[in-house]
Amino acid sequence: PPQPLTPEDGRSQGLSKVAHIIAVSSCKGGVGKSTTAVNLAYTLAQMGAKVGIFDADVYGPSLPTMVSPELRVLKMNPETRSIEPLVYEGVKAVSFGFAGQGSAIMRGPMVSGVVQQLLTTTEWGELDYLVVDFPPGTGDIQLTLCQTVAFSAAVIVTTPQKLAFLDVAKGIRMFARLAVPCVAVVENMAYFDADGKRYHPFGKGSGERIVRDFGLPNLCRFPIEADLSAAGDGGRPLVVSNPTSATANAFMDLGAAV
Ligand code: ADP
Repeated sequence: PPQPLTPEDGRSQGLSKVAHIIAVSSCKGGVGKSTTAVNLAYTLAQMGAKVGIFDADVYGPSLPTMVSPELRVLKMNPETRSIEPLVYEGVKAVSFGFAGQGSAIMRGPMVSGVVQQLLTTTEWGELDYLVVDFPPGTGDIQLTLCQTVAFSAAVIVTTPQKLAFLDVAKGIRMFARLAVPCVAVVENMAYFDADGKRYHPFGKGSGERIVRDFGLPNLCRFPIEADLSAAGDGGRPLVVSNPTSATANAFMDLGAAV
């Protein structure tokens, strides 16, 4: 297999014209990290920025479900040997799910190399933001990603459960050690409104506690919302399909935070 690129190679190649690289991370799966990453990317695009999104999950890529580009398989430019991103609604999108193979069976170190290579050999062109949807956790793959490219900021996604809180602390510490500033915590599935009342089915206050304990600048809270899920499953992110909804507005706050 080809040798993984060094960080210097990565910056001098396809990522050289990318101004800000944003990590969207969570320590547990299923908390809404990919939903957040995709809607954040499209929110930034709606704010007028040139945006790309990279789905770094080799084992369970979500981007192919969440966006519907016309072409669904990544191509390599034979001259430059770089990957050309797919484009959906003006946002460049790259995922292992667009690599044209079945799910990967690889050990950790191999996965790290492959993630690094797909990220750095893509010709992203000129971008204001590249949103990177991290695989869940704080292991080798995440560390390698952080050592491969210089992230400008991290967004940590959690749900209100206590377990999620303890894991989030790990994530914040990982980014702090790597000198990547954590600019926002997203407390996803924080509440829902029904019959004129607000319900907090997973408890209350963990987002506030994280923001306070770690001195983070922003807390964004998203409700449990069937439309957000349906939009993701339907290949058209909510902020694109319903840009005037309350949740799309809440994503503007997150966009402003990064
Ligand atoms: P992760 O990337 O953390 O594994 P996903 O973004 O894939 O999580 O979300 C997991 C599932 O939960 C998806 O089916 C998604 O549509 C749904 N989901 C995420 N956030 C919400 C929300 N705020 N309200 C309703 N469903 C949500």
